[in-house]
This record gives sequence, C-alpha cells and structure tokens, in this order.
Amino acid sequence: MPLTKGRCQCGGVEFTVNGPLRDVVYCHCKMCRRLTGHLVAATACAPSHLSIDRSGTLRWYASSPEANRGFCGNCGSNLFWKPVSGSHVSILAGTLDDPTGIQGAAHIHVESKGDYYTLADGLPQHHGGEHDVRLPEAG
Ligand SMILES: [Zn+2]
Ligand SMILES: [Zn+2]
Repeated sequence: MPLTKGRCQCGGVEFTVNGPLRDVVYCHCKMCRRLTGHLVAATACAPSHLSIDRSGTLRWYASSPEANRGFCGNCGSNLFWKPVSGSHVSILAGTLDDPTGIQGAAHIHVESKGDYYTLADGLPQHHGGEHDVRLPEAG
C-alpha cells in the first residue's frame, strides 16, 4: 500500500497518507489565491487514509459553508482542504515529501485566475470547480 508523509514547514503538523493519492488539481479561485499567495496545487486521498501524526499547531478555518481548510497556526503552512460532504480530503501537494508519484491533471476556476501568470501546460482547463480527476481505488 502506498505511504506518503507530509508536514508543515515548522514540523508542528505531521501526517501520513496510507493509501493512493489523486493526481493534482490546480485551483485558481480567488479564495485559494488569497489564502496561499498564489494558486493551490492539491492532491487528495480518502478521509480514512489520512492520519495526522502530530497536530499540536493544526488549526481549521471555515473558508466557506462547503469546506474547512487546515493550516499550521505557528508557521502558516496551508495543508488541507476538507469538504463538509466528507467525500475526500485535499492535501496541498507542496507539503508532501518527495517523491510523490503524482502529476498535474487539471485546472479549475480558471475564470478567476490571476493576470500575472499564464497557463501553458496543456492540461484541461475548467470554469468552476468541477473536474474529472478521480481518486484511485485503494489497492
Ligand atoms: Zn508549522
Ligand atoms: Zn480554490
């Protein structure tokens, strides 16, 4: 079973993913851009596959009625995006240890993209938050 570790910059939050990771979806919405300083590159896993090994500084922020965002209250690292539906947990890909074994798959909310960068990687670009990048089956 794949096993991936990740953490925030200061180490106050550490986690392990005990299952497959979804390929990366890049979100260009204004919330993601404002909260992180740029766009969000998010992988995801099944909620049952995420174990938080160290959570002393983990904080949750309800960025909308649909989702909560997990971050480190000490160093400010953005870590998780968790929909209230409980369908999955998104993990900000930059917080994972390399190698991750995943790759970019799609862009969402491109209508809110900043004017200071271009998208030229050839990946599908979606208006709004819908995409067809799925979690792999646990195997
Ligand atoms: Zn931290
Ligand atoms: Zn977003």
